[in-house]
Amino acid sequence: MAKTRIGILGYGNLGRGVELACRQNDDMEFAALFTRRDPASVRPLTAGVPVYAADDLAAHRDDVDVLVLCGGSARDLPEQTPACASLFNVVDSFDTHANIPVHFANVDVEAKAAGTVAVVSGGWDPGMFSLARLYAESVLPEGKDYTFWGRGVSQGHSDAIRRVEGVADARQYTVPVHSALEAVRAGEDPELTTRQKHTRECYVVAEEGADKAAIERAIAEMPNYFADYDTTVTFVTQEELDRDHAGIPHGGSVIRSGATGERGESRHVIEYALKLDSNPEFTGSVLVACARAAHRLAREGHTGCKTLFDIPPAYLSPKSAEELRASML
Ligand code: NAP
Repeated sequence: MAKTRIGILGYGNLGRGVELACRQNDDMEFAALFTRRDPASVRPLTAGVPVYAADDLAAHRDDVDVLVLCGGSARDLPEQTPACASLFNVVDSFDTHANIPVHFANVDVEAKAAGTVAVVSGGWDPGMFSLARLYAESVLPEGKDYTFWGRGVSQGHSDAIRRVEGVADARQYTVPVHSALEAVRAGEDPELTTRQKHTRECYVVAEEGADKAAIERAIAEMPNYFADYDTTVTFVTQEELDRDHAGIPHGGSVIRSGATGERGESRHVIEYALKLDSNPEFTGSVLVACARAAHRLAREGHTGCKTLFDIPPAYLSPKSAEELRASML
């Protein structure tokens, strides 16, 4: 079968992660890169891939089977995903959890009208963690769910800080509260507020002359991102940020603690854990699997917006149903 031709819109960390994931999948071809910057100023790692201006997307509808959107969730994807779904099958990693229903609805209207498939909120959270939560709750209806993230850099949160006025650069670490994590693993079923589960550490480079107190306030009060957490802001120089905070590791655990039996006497703990050296490379790998599914759904005549919940697991895999039954079931 012909390869799935992947277009990438936005060439930051995630864009490069998607590019590298294409190389590991023989059924995928990185066909075109689109950027809002001057195309001549952006050079992909893969030689020979054309770079086009994002304004020219419509002219390249026939060059791409699935466009993977790699912009930021805070400002880019709410506009880019609906707009692009009216032209292409698309995949994004929209990760502002509270706004996913609205994002889904906005994208669904455009995708249905254009007859395309749009997979939103792929990645690991939302994404693989969402699936872990769904599977665990479906098989253990009586129980409690816990999700712990980190210690790791959240790209979405770092991106949101970088957009605060007066901020030149930033890294945000999400840190699980150790005692809370251990209590959950021990099956103690503690009641934990958002604030009791994680703290947020922000390392921020301020622009020269910027009002640091205002920056700190804008970060700490940002709804959905920081307002519900104990947040610390540490101002550092660009050199310190580059030296001490260059990596983009992440990970975490989704845990469901449940009970079965006549009196709930049998206890069960399900834990799905990720330890990621590179968050964008892993996220890019999930997005490429989602792109495979999106292309397949589109070829079958499906339209509209989907999430990982709506994708049959086998559609993520390049293997046939027969191969999967023989080797993995
Ligand atoms: P990023 O590196 O800041 O890139 C975001 C966009 O900024 C790029 O698409 C690019 O668009 C532009 N850009 C990148 N480098 C630039 C530069 N040097 N100069 C000017 N513009 C530049 O963000 P990212 O780390 O790729 O993350 C993107 C999003 O992925 C995050 O906001 C987050 O929401 C999402 N994410 C989701 C998950 C999940 O599990 N669901 C996990 C990780 C990340 P142009 O090329 O068009 O300029």
